[in-house]
Amino acid sequence: MEKKVLVIGGGVIGLSSAICLLEDGWDVTIHSAEFSPNTTSDVAAALWYPFLSAPVEKTDAWGSRTYDILKLLTVDEKAGIEMVQTYEYFRSKQEDPSWMSTVDKFERITEDLPSDYVECFSFMTQVIEMPIYLNWLMDRFKFLGGKLEKQIVTSFSDVSDDFSIIVNCTGLSSGELCHDSEVYPVRGQIIRIKPLIGEMHLDQQVPTLAYIVPRSNDMIIGGVAQEGNWNTEATIEDRNFIIDKASKIIPGIKDAEIIEDIVGLRPGRTEVRLEKELISGRTVIHNYGHGGSGVTLSWGCAEEIVEIINE
Ligand SMILES: Cc1cc2nc3c(=O)[nH]c(=O)nc-3n(C[C@H](O)[C@H](O)[C@H](O)COP(=O)(O)OP(=O)(O)OC[C@H]3O[C@@H](n4cnc5c(N)ncnc54)[C@H](O)[C@@H]3O)c2cc1C
Repeated sequence: MEKKVLVIGGGVIGLSSAICLLEDGWDVTIHSAEFSPNTTSDVAAALWYPFLSAPVEKTDAWGSRTYDILKLLTVDEKAGIEMVQTYEYFRSKQEDPSWMSTVDKFERITEDLPSDYVECFSFMTQVIEMPIYLNWLMDRFKFLGGKLEKQIVTSFSDVSDDFSIIVNCTGLSSGELCHDSEVYPVRGQIIRIKPLIGEMHLDQQVPTLAYIVPRSNDMIIGGVAQEGNWNTEATIEDRNFIIDKASKIIPGIKDAEIIEDIVGLRPGRTEVRLEKELISGRTVIHNYGHGGSGVTLSWGCAEEIVEIINE
């Protein structure tokens, strides 16, 4: 069997898929328009948490597998991953989340909550420092013998016949590359501030979205989730909106020292597309449309790519 695979895309989805394929014995090359630090994956906050992705029965399974792998990776200090005490707040009573059994130390808290919140989930999850983690993934990819080239792919049929299989991990650009009208941007804006606290605080309801994510040398605060908005420039309105929401949880944030504002476009889709398609007689496996959960679903999806390719 010819074992040459081309992975298109060098974000978290492309790199994780490429690593799992290399570990399974495939000869893997990545072609990507950009690599870290110029991908959407670099902008992710990033925490393990299923957000703006579907369908839930699949994202729960992919997410659970990814949680376990990211947890194992916390022992490697070069990977930039930490388990962090997390509090998620709600303004109404909540059912158990579908991912409750995935995370460690899940508990409910109803007393001494900030602002007008009435319920809180307390649990342990990972904070993944993407600039460090993407570097770690790239090192792992190269160590396993992966090859890469900076190259834009405009059509699957233009890919050299040397590659018998293509794995498409082009995120938001898949809309154009695959003529897929189900793909749309979900604009996010975040603010890097000087470090303040060591725990993570979240309000994951889109209208009131607020996240306060501790990292080793800074904190990320967010955010917004604007469907259909292609603007990649930061706006002062969004900055003020984010600070206002986050300071309802941690009041000290309104006086925090701001380092920079960053914008990224999440690759939204009605549901994650992870499936095989035959294009001009060649197998193309798609892995895109992870919305606000690309990091959270990355290893689970990558392992499924290996299963599909071996079918
Ligand atoms: C503000 C913000 C916060 C977020 N926070 C989190 C979080 O906390 N947790 C979480 O799990 N997720 C989070 N996300 C979502 C996460 O960033 C995405 O789901 C994830 O980055 C998608 O990864 P990807 O590899 O599919 O896409 P990308 O990172 O966009 O990578 C796509 C790659 O494909 C390449 N490419 C595109 N078109 C072509 C082409 N035609 N030819 C060749 N190469 C091409 C690009 O150059 C790039 O390398 C966040 C996103 C944003 C914007």
